[in-house]
Amino acid sequence: MKKILVTGGAGFLGSHLCERLLKEGNEVICLDNYFTGNKKNVIHLLDNPLFELIRHDVTEPFYAEVDQIYNLACPASPPHYQYNPIKTIKTSVLGALNMLGLAKRVNAKILQASTSEVYGDPEVHPQTEDYWGNVNPIGLRSCYDEGKRCAESLFVNYKDQNDVKIKIIRIFNTYGTRMNPYDGRVVSNFIVQALKGENITIYGNGKQTRSFQYVDDLVEGMIRMMNSDDSFSGPVNLGNPNEFTMLELAENILKLTKSKSKIVYQPLPQDDPMQRQPNISLAYEKLNGWKPEVDLKDGLEKTIKYFEQIVL
Ligand code: NAD
Ligand code: UDP
Ligand code: UDP
Repeated sequence: MKKILVTGGAGFLGSHLCERLLKEGNEVICLDNYFTGNKKNVIHLLDNPLFELIRHDVTEPFYAEVDQIYNLACPASPPHYQYNPIKTIKTSVLGALNMLGLAKRVNAKILQASTSEVYGDPEVHPQTEDYWGNVNPIGLRSCYDEGKRCAESLFVNYKDQNDVKIKIIRIFNTYGTRMNPYDGRVVSNFIVQALKGENITIYGNGKQTRSFQYVDDLVEGMIRMMNSDDSFSGPVNLGNPNEFTMLELAENILKLTKSKSKIVYQPLPQDDPMQRQPNISLAYEKLNGWKPEVDLKDGLEKTIKYFEQIVL
């Protein structure tokens, strides 16, 4: 049994991770300031004596004795991370710093939830881990992209300078149950709009692409990465290489929900990446043949069922 800290544990991804870690018999401390997360995401875990939920902001120091740290605290959807961009930068940078300081003090292994956004609007396709990215340092998305890039740098330097055992994963677009229905991301927006019979809002011409993985596949990859050989610290891409356009996504969701919603077109936000697809060869090689198992139709059906319960 390990003592594991999950920051951002009351969020979409964090709640699934806490659940899985408890299922494996570990003790879990979940830290969250509830900015975008919600107690309801972990309410079903509160009866478990091995689970502890603490309200805490990672920009402040935190003290606990743990074996592993998963650092997920950070708003992830563009409307949320752009709501208070300075706070987003603080969360990424000071949050990483504090958790690295903690990892150093107690000799814990620490995993950073980085993002495909470090590749910006990529000129290399599909993206491999050795690509440095194409990020606008002063654009609307920079509070998130550059915050995450700085966090990666902090992680690598704590490893080199202080021998902290680090792991960096670059997460590509992930969806599933417990996504916040109003967080403004494309999967939640389209499903909620389809279920309510509202217009489906495509930004731009809908030809931009993304590659979506289901949350269970990501959690499996995260845990394999944390427990991978100490000589491998990443970064490693975790995503589903199945790439499609936002128009195709809208059509899929309309079909699965049997919705009569109409598609409407709205302006494309500034610096919105045109394409994104992970190359996952490194994850496959280093993480015992890890690859996504859940296909889009199955994942969307589960997510639609969840949203039906909470928004209708
Ligand atoms: P989310 O918004 O549901 O979860 C983030 C959690 O962090 C929330 O519970 C929020 O309240 C908490 N939080 C935010 N600021 C905090 C602070 N200062 N102190 C303590 N807690 C704080 O988003 P998510 O999709 O679950 O994302 C989790 C992590 O994964 C984030 O770091 C995100 O950048 C990363 N990620 C997610 C995706 C994706 O597609 N979901 C893709 C790439 C990276
Ligand atoms: N820190 C923390 N918990 C700990 C140890 C450190 O939150 O258990 C914070 C500490 O407050 C500092 C940061 O982590 O702001 C970096 O710590 P480190 O020891 O690397 O740097 P220093 O304190 O020497 O600046
Ligand atoms: N998008 C869209 N309609 C929406 C929300 C998003 O067309 O209602 C587009 C958005 O412009 C982007 C893609 O869908 O091109 C993915 O957006 P999301 O915010 O989910 O993720 P990210 O851009 O961070 O990858």
